[in-house]
Amino acid sequence: MTVVTRIAPSPTGDPHVGTAYVGLFNYAYARRHGGRFVLRIEDTDRERYQADAETHILEMFAWLGIAPDESPLAGGPNGPYKQSERLEIYQAHIDQLLNAGVAYRAFETEEELEAMRKEQKQRGLKLGYDGRGRTLPKEEQDARANNGEPHVIRLATPDEGETAFDDLLRGQIAIGNDEIRDPVLIKSDGYPTYHFANVVDDHLMGVTHVMRAEEWVTSTPIHVLLYQAFGWTLPTFAHLPLLRNPDKSKISKRKLDTSVASYREQGILPEALLNFLATMGWSMPDGREVFTLDEMVDAFDPARISLGGPVFDLKKLRHLNGVYLRDVLDLEEVARRVTPLFEQAGYPQDDPEYLLDVVDVLRPRAETLNDFVDQGGYFFVDTLDYTDDARKRIAGGQQVLEDLERELSMLDVFDEDAIDDVLEDYMRSRELKKPAVLMPLRAALTGTTNAPSVTDLIAILGRSRVLTRIGRALSDMTSSLPDDHPSDEDAAETEAKPKAKAKDPAQGPSA
Ligand code: GLU
Repeated sequence: MTVVTRIAPSPTGDPHVGTAYVGLFNYAYARRHGGRFVLRIEDTDRERYQADAETHILEMFAWLGIAPDESPLAGGPNGPYKQSERLEIYQAHIDQLLNAGVAYRAFETEEELEAMRKEQKQRGLKLGYDGRGRTLPKEEQDARANNGEPHVIRLATPDEGETAFDDLLRGQIAIGNDEIRDPVLIKSDGYPTYHFANVVDDHLMGVTHVMRAEEWVTSTPIHVLLYQAFGWTLPTFAHLPLLRNPDKSKISKRKLDTSVASYREQGILPEALLNFLATMGWSMPDGREVFTLDEMVDAFDPARISLGGPVFDLKKLRHLNGVYLRDVLDLEEVARRVTPLFEQAGYPQDDPEYLLDVVDVLRPRAETLNDFVDQGGYFFVDTLDYTDDARKRIAGGQQVLEDLERELSMLDVFDEDAIDDVLEDYMRSRELKKPAVLMPLRAALTGTTNAPSVTDLIAILGRSRVLTRIGRALSDMTSSLPDDHPSDEDAAETEAKPKAKAKDPAQGPSA
């Protein structure tokens, strides 16, 4: 038997991390068993339908690297993979149930149903459809339908006994049949309900394993009754634990960012997000927390899924992303991924070697791809903007900067050892402490006081940029003073000066 799993999202909004999570587990199970992973768009709820959501769902799976084998995009032998394009199939299947007398057309109006509920309440009965339409003879049902009378089609379910199924993760789950009240299969707009379309499609698409979120557990007995009505074999059901907000409540937009696109925009890597989602309720046999998708697939066994609600911990996700940036992806790959981000932010890239050095030095402190751009823009500008703090450091270290400008310009070999020697000798000879020398230098070279090691900075920037930047910091200070030492003239001058990062053609891309 070929294992076939599926993800069946409804296109109702931004693709959700829960969809990525359930998709991942289905993908892993199918791959582990050499099977197929199907994506079906469940778009029968026309009120909640959003036109671009389907594209975003497909893009999300492609971005994550768990693209389905069959989908509206990939096609496949059991398409179409969009429920709104399968209406004829549902029609044929509902006819089958109508003819067999296990489904019936029910003509109650909204008012009648409301009156029924009211009476149930008054008499202290269980609320829900009471099956009153079941007794209408089939000929009459058909005649009224042919006359265009609005109606729904319901499944006639047993009143007594219970319906049970085996959940792969939870064991046997049974529900009293008095809880199942002739559910609607076809709505008055002619569209199938979730239950009906879902079961028909899972069967026709050859789905062997239905792995979905816990919230569908209570729908499953209805599905089981439908499988029985058709005389079809049940798939294996597995209901995965719901992701949780940090306060353990069910994951929700109000408390947490639940859109996969927003994590992508924040510079989270697809590999890290998958790894993180894999650890939600599942663990590697050896307890390893960092593993690739292929490693997960090789080891994937649903028996290792634990049902305690896994918490979507953002700190953990960011930390893991940092581990991927530093230790899992190689330098070239990280550089390849940050290149478009630098370019979008207005830092054109034309020197791959320089970018590699920049990425290498920023990597130890980066948790997201965006951190490279937020923390490293200064590598790619010709005119720095100085933070207030940087201005103060420069102003307080003018002598140091003048001295080092001279010393560094005289260096024969401009490498890390030589730079280190210059700095060490200088501090020793002037009896200066590290911060007194390194802080002004860092501020002059980057415009900030929060940057990597000064030796690294100098080595990467290269002689020409370093000397230009020190020179410019010094000249800037003579024309403006930091905010806490204002003089009227200087304040006026600072204000008049635009803060734009003008390009200086004299400064080449690499030193
Ligand atoms: N369309 C349902 C959803 O949006 C599918 C649930 C299922 O997997 O059966 O999650």
